[in-house]
Amino acid sequence: MTILDGKKTSADIKAEIAEKVKELKAQGKKTPHLAAVIVGNDGASKTYVGAKVKACELVGFESTLIELPEETSEEALLQKINDLNQDNAIDGYIVQLPLPRHIDEHKVLLAIDADKDVDGFHPTNVGRMALELPTFLPATPYGILELLERYQVPTSGKNVVVIGRSHIVGRPMSILMSQKRAAGDATVTVAHSRTQNLKELTLQADIVVVALGVAEFLTGDMVKEGVTIIDVGITRIEDSSKKNGFRLAGDVHFDSVAPKAEFITPVPGGVGPMTIAMLLKNTLLAGERKS
Ligand code: NAD
Repeated sequence: MTILDGKKTSADIKAEIAEKVKELKAQGKKTPHLAAVIVGNDGASKTYVGAKVKACELVGFESTLIELPEETSEEALLQKINDLNQDNAIDGYIVQLPLPRHIDEHKVLLAIDADKDVDGFHPTNVGRMALELPTFLPATPYGILELLERYQVPTSGKNVVVIGRSHIVGRPMSILMSQKRAAGDATVTVAHSRTQNLKELTLQADIVVVALGVAEFLTGDMVKEGVTIIDVGITRIEDSSKKNGFRLAGDVHFDSVAPKAEFITPVPGGVGPMTIAMLLKNTLLAGERKS
């Protein structure tokens, strides 16, 4: 069994990006600049945004964190987005989701300049992804592809089951892995909350991508020997023995699944760090495209 080590792989990618930034600086070119907008006080969202900003510093990017109060109106947020679209100093930016309920997420995503949409969530970029045109790939699926590629996990002709059909993970993952690409050419099945025979499907799968957000959902009896497991889930579980009062659980019951797996991602230290590394990669691309 091989652990697909997202922590190490993301550190490698960040080192490659830092090298590239040094080159840009030496050539007198602009340093890539990522902005992140967060609305409200959600603890997990704040942690994710904080990690993204810290990662920018680590690779030598400029970063700007824009923290807006929970009661920010949709209009005020759209104005902020308009400002970011106009600001030439900013190469790319993200609006951390979820947004407070009174704000229409789709309206906000549509307002983002597609050329600065380093999350790859704008309909133009989703369309470009589906059509296999150059674009910003959504960071989590992009990170999974990179992990599969770097560990040379065979995907061509394999049966992949993706559990979850969200716009940010399951859906793009299923599209990307069915495409003609390095970590692709697979036969993909998308399972979701209405799927009736999930265990039958996962028992046939060579690769299972688990992205539903239910702690330790996938158990050892649901997979075959030699399977590759990509665990996207992150759920906070109360744990008084931890300093911050919680532990992170994946969607996979690691102890029963790992003994059957040929490759498996851990939680934490698997897909999570890859997501941040790929956001940086998209920001680098945004900067390169502009220059
Ligand atoms: P979501 O809540 O938007 O979607 C969940 C999906 O799971 C839905 O499509 C639903 O149909 C499906 N589902 C729910 N119950 C099911 C069941 N019993 N059987 C089969 N399918 C079922 O979730 P999301 O935004 O895709 O996130 C999924 C998980 O991944 C969460 O834990 C989230 O925190 C985590 N996540 C991690 C990263 C990362 O960087 N590691 C990034 C994004 C999301």
